[in-house]
Amino acid sequence: MGKPLPLDGIPTPRYDLLPDNFFIQRVVQATRGCPFTCSFCTVPALNPGFRTRPVSEVIKDVEYAQFRHWWQRKVVWFWDDNLTIKRQYIRTLLTAMVPLRKWWLTQASMDIADDRTLLNLMKRSGCIGIFFGIESFGVESLEDAHKPQNKVSKYRDKIRALHDQGICVMAGFIAGFDGDTPETIAAMAKQLYDAGVDVPFLSILTPYRGTPAYAKMVKEARILDGRGWEFYNGYNVPFRPKNMSPEQLLQAHRALWREAFSLRYSLLRIVRSFFRLRFGAFLMCAAMNGFYCLKRLRGNEPMSFNESSVYSEFTNLTGTEQQLNA
Ligand code: SF4
Repeated sequence: MGKPLPLDGIPTPRYDLLPDNFFIQRVVQATRGCPFTCSFCTVPALNPGFRTRPVSEVIKDVEYAQFRHWWQRKVVWFWDDNLTIKRQYIRTLLTAMVPLRKWWLTQASMDIADDRTLLNLMKRSGCIGIFFGIESFGVESLEDAHKPQNKVSKYRDKIRALHDQGICVMAGFIAGFDGDTPETIAAMAKQLYDAGVDVPFLSILTPYRGTPAYAKMVKEARILDGRGWEFYNGYNVPFRPKNMSPEQLLQAHRALWREAFSLRYSLLRIVRSFFRLRFGAFLMCAAMNGFYCLKRLRGNEPMSFNESSVYSEFTNLTGTEQQLNA
């Protein structure tokens, strides 16, 4: 394992090398790492500690403007693990962003909902969207996720605090924790709508090597033999769930995905956001829900694998590639 180095002196990326069809091109990293230790997350292993870039260097990336379309010049996507965790740093960064009049989005922990001063600064600096890893509505599942900072009874109020600033709330949910059953997964489509989530992201628990979730699955002999990397894409089941079969988990997730992105729920979220969110946040909410709803209507749902339908690219690997993949 390497040693984390300081983030000073990283040059502005060669955004000009990106193909024009990348909808959002200006992806910026201001920080790396996260102080939490969620059981399924690779960040603590891949980016240990919490490091920040000098604000002046981040602002240089934010000011880069050689993009073709107005939205590419306008939007800044902070691809950080947990951008807001160090308050003094984020306040300095956002204060410097206020005069630039950008629209920006990132991911953060739900604790920001209690910091009205920060929320206000986020709004003034152009925040249009925050991604929360909500993960689950089940207390036992949140324990399994090692996410004690998420309190189910507070979801609604915390999301409302962001809506009060006109900010869109995207949220990730994971199916397959030890507290989950097919019934609890099915209930999530309504729960996430009732909680106020504007754009849901729905995945299946994936125990990547190096995470506590993987260590636990190995210890309990729950990693399924014969399930290669194609099962580790966040939408398939490479392990034996506690309260259902792998196939039941897969089907429960697909049913949830279809229900959450049905025309009904997608339209409800878009209409609701029109009355709650600032203009840029509404546009983003409508675009994301529209994208997933269109996929749903066309039957373009996540690809499902099983032992007899292995991803074709994996059947033609050389011996070395197979060893690397094992
Ligand atoms: S809060 Fe998010 S980034 Fe941090 S460890 Fe948990 S899942 Fe990973």
